[in-house]
Amino acid sequence: MSTKDYMEKDFYKILGVSKDAPADEIKKAYRKLARKHHPDANKGDAESEERFKAISEAYDVLSDDTKRREYDEARTLFGSGGLRFPGGGAGGGRMGAPGGSGGATSFDLGDLFGGGAAGGGAGLGDVLGGLFGRGRTGPAGAPAARRGSDVESEVTLAFTEAADGVTVPLRLTSEAACATCRGTGAKAGTTPRVCPTCQGTGQTTRNAGGFAFAEPCRDCRGRGLVVDDPCSVCHGSGRAPSTRTIQARIPAGVKDGQRIRLKGKGAPGERGGVNGDLFIVVHVSAHQLFGRKDDNLTLALPVTFPEAALGADLKVPTLGGQPVTLRIPPGTTAGRTFRVRGKGVTRRDGTMGDLLVTVDVAVPQKLDSKAREALEAFRDATTGDDPRAGLLDPRPR
Ligand SMILES: [Zn+2]
Ligand SMILES: [Zn+2]
Repeated sequence: MSTKDYMEKDFYKILGVSKDAPADEIKKAYRKLARKHHPDANKGDAESEERFKAISEAYDVLSDDTKRREYDEARTLFGSGGLRFPGGGAGGGRMGAPGGSGGATSFDLGDLFGGGAAGGGAGLGDVLGGLFGRGRTGPAGAPAARRGSDVESEVTLAFTEAADGVTVPLRLTSEAACATCRGTGAKAGTTPRVCPTCQGTGQTTRNAGGFAFAEPCRDCRGRGLVVDDPCSVCHGSGRAPSTRTIQARIPAGVKDGQRIRLKGKGAPGERGGVNGDLFIVVHVSAHQLFGRKDDNLTLALPVTFPEAALGADLKVPTLGGQPVTLRIPPGTTAGRTFRVRGKGVTRRDGTMGDLLVTVDVAVPQKLDSKAREALEAFRDATTGDDPRAGLLDPRPR
């Protein structure tokens, strides 16, 4: 949503409701209009299609408390008189503010929203930051707030740490205000001065055919300030890499390769702007015994042939807990998987995945004479039970 849209479109009028209409009234009005102008009911009617789009757009803003508040604030701010707004979206130029004088009333935008933006505290500053995009400058010497950049980092966790969740210290390097000049960009003992070209607004205005176009000031590169004697550390930019250590909380159940977002843990914002986000790519080391399949743990369980054939109660390890007893029934085949409920990995909602135990029939590598005799006797007793019956059958299937 551009500023131009906010200024030129009266969403209340489009939906036919009053400015203080409650949410349910707006919803009702929208539904009624949307039904009437829905493309399905007005095939090929371009006017209805336009109306439908306008209705949807209006409802999108007015049905969202935050968007509606921003819209109201912006309109209050700009709707009060004829306003020359440089560079407001494509075409720029005059905003069709209601009740405008139509004259060439020129406004210093900096006066209007510099206070909020530079102060950084009020919601209004945020609203305006959102409306005008990043890096807009306010009044002389007080460029607008800017959100810190996002930072990406990596961490390798032990298998158990990933399953249980862990807090890890992370050393991060990101752009921050230069410590030497405290972000001014000027050499110690000197201060930057207001850019004479743009008078500190960071923008210069060009008039063409009655329209005012704004572009970033070339002399200060949009900063609003010029530095005569630059700081030797940041070379006048006011920004320098800074290293800090943070304690990053990794939630239980993270997977190898997962990307975690920690809001506000990225690079610090400038001039009261919000911090960027930190993204952590997690690597998980393999475990000697256990594997992972989503929220489940996997385990290969060796069993002897007699156990598989006769059935058995077997002790099975769990990750970080007491062993559990698993009953395998007589005639269990190799590769069969049993589920031990609740012994997997913690899910996001706090519930637990399962432990999936897959049976692996172990074949004895060494036999003493007694065991050999017993096996031979077993073989001779089971001649009628051929597992390969039908395998070499010559008839086509
Ligand atoms: Zn510096
Ligand atoms: Zn300038």
